[in-house]
Amino acid sequence: QAGIAIHHAKQTGRNTLRFFNQDMQDIINVRASLEHELRIAVEHSRFELHYQIQMNDAKQVVGAEALLRWPHRKRGLIPPATFIPLAEITGLIVPIGRWVVDAACAQLGEWQNDELTRDLSLAINVSALQFRQSDFVGQVQAAVERHGIAANLLKLELTESLLQEDIDITVATMNALKNVGVQFSLDDFGTGYSSLQYLKQLPLNQFKIDQSFVSDIVNNSSDKTIVKTIISMAHSLNIEVIAEGVETEEQHQLLLSYGCEAFQGYLFSKPVPIEQFESLLRKGVCTSNTL
Ligand code: C2E
Ligand code: MG
Ligand code: MG
Ligand code: MG
Repeated sequence: QAGIAIHHAKQTGRNTLRFFNQDMQDIINVRASLEHELRIAVEHSRFELHYQIQMNDAKQVVGAEALLRWPHRKRGLIPPATFIPLAEITGLIVPIGRWVVDAACAQLGEWQNDELTRDLSLAINVSALQFRQSDFVGQVQAAVERHGIAANLLKLELTESLLQEDIDITVATMNALKNVGVQFSLDDFGTGYSSLQYLKQLPLNQFKIDQSFVSDIVNNSSDKTIVKTIISMAHSLNIEVIAEGVETEEQHQLLLSYGCEAFQGYLFSKPVPIEQFESLLRKGVCTSNTL
């Protein structure tokens, strides 16, 4: 729409400014109303977590990643890419993130009641602003206690850029969380600029290979090399590797042959609402050789 307006503006010459203004006004209005609606959603905790299966190298489901969704009465289910940036700019990511921590711990609590789900881990994504809150460790600890869960089933996904912001605070916060008992996964690994020297100071349990290295791995020899290097580096640091964005059996087999120990991607399941996730587990879709 903006493209059309600009084209139109060029033709009409003198009206240019008016067209640009109207266009920009539209963008500002949309943003303002989205922000307003996001605030209301936060007040009423109107969010959902969807769950994506994580498999081990024996094709058993070992856990899930919880991915945030915003159900909107007009726009349907809004994906995080659309509203997380706005939530970060406005600071709303802090209460949203707090809700995610609590909802994930509540889910882990419910999973304790069923043999099928008792050992599953659950990973959540943590934003930099949320991680830097002075009460973040307390929040996590309180949620773990409130829901009576084993803390080691909760995995916090952090990104390289988040970790690099302030090394001293990062190390202190991670160590405090490690004392609570939670696990850490380094999300989108390979897209940042972490040095080994830096990473070895952090109590990381898992590297999550970014899907940009997985998508073309079958055909691209430098992606093959990068992934093999990440895996051997991780293993030498005693860190497990999970690959994200695994979409084909070929990618899966290649990653397996490189020693990757866990997998997540559309090949196994998309992120789905909890009922669907649990019915996948009950059907044994992913634990049997029906794949
Ligand atoms: P992420 O943590 O790297 O999550 C992986 C994204 O890749 C998810 O997108 C997932 O649906 C998608 N995905 C999984 N498997 C495949 C696959 O095989 N192929 C392809 N093409 N995509 C796949 P989603 O759910 O839209 O989330 C996008 C990002 O939003 C996440 O990236 C994460 O950075 C952020 N996010 C999601 N939930 C939260 C949250 O609760 N808090 C915060 N702070 N960020 C979140
Ligand atoms: Mg993630
Ligand atoms: Mg990721
Ligand atoms: Mg990603």
